[in-house]
Amino acid sequence: MKRILLAIVLLLLAGTVSAAEKTGPKVYISADMEGIWGVVHGNQTSSSSPEYGPARKWMTEDVNAVIAGLFEAGAAEVVVNDSHGSMRNIIPEDLDPRASLISGSPKPLSMMQGIDDTFAACIFVGYHARAGTAPAVLDHTISGGVVHAIRVNGQEMPELGLNAAIAGYFNVPVIMLSGDTETCAQAKSILGEALTAVAVKKAEGRYAAQNFPLDEARKRLREGAKEAFLKRGQVAAFRLKAPFKFELELNNSGQAVMPALIPAIKRTGPRTLEISSNDYLEGFKLLRAAINLAGI
Ligand SMILES: [Zn+2]
Repeated sequence: MKRILLAIVLLLLAGTVSAAEKTGPKVYISADMEGIWGVVHGNQTSSSSPEYGPARKWMTEDVNAVIAGLFEAGAAEVVVNDSHGSMRNIIPEDLDPRASLISGSPKPLSMMQGIDDTFAACIFVGYHARAGTAPAVLDHTISGGVVHAIRVNGQEMPELGLNAAIAGYFNVPVIMLSGDTETCAQAKSILGEALTAVAVKKAEGRYAAQNFPLDEARKRLREGAKEAFLKRGQVAAFRLKAPFKFELELNNSGQAVMPALIPAIKRTGPRTLEISSNDYLEGFKLLRAAINLAGI
């Protein structure tokens, strides 16, 4: 009788555990392309080039390595947001089938579409350094043709900082980033030393890098994701202090004309615009709209 009772208790416990796993920690991944293993040139990140096909495959594989590490470490759900160019780069059928994929554009929150406060952690894969960083592979900020610099409350920001603050808005910590060596250093200087930064290549210039041995790079991505997930409690969300002042420095004065038609976007110089907001997300959306209007 005691054995039967014990068996029933064990069965009930097993049921509880599997139910808890299904509703366990969710992880959000934003995946860009310039910081992917193998990528050193715009031809590899542009869909019109014959060099694009292989780079899509590398991107999918870098992301898969991170997903594998996350599930190994106990993540219950992984959502991947394709965050480069057309945002249709990751090959859907080749992505780890345990993860879901946000594909395509435009999306209101762009590289951070889909993030909310139900996620336990956020990871940036294949990210790159901000415009004006050297040596850094394909350094730019959001739009190479339009943006010279973006400052938030006086601090010059790469995409990784702007996007980390969106995650922070929802109290989600960025626990890991992958990219070239320079981007990893920039990420740590902004997001802090608790960030797990995995370099897949050593930046040698804007169009050159030493790619680390492929198996080693993928292993580091997998191990890095596992470690970062397990120590996620030690990483604080990146929250900037209100009120927010976004400064957008454009490449030329012609680009300032169209964004300045929006009353909330002030032209403060021949090629500079300013947005003030008490709400980070609202300010970011205006910034994003300004960049697109500037590109017209
Ligand atoms: Zn990109």
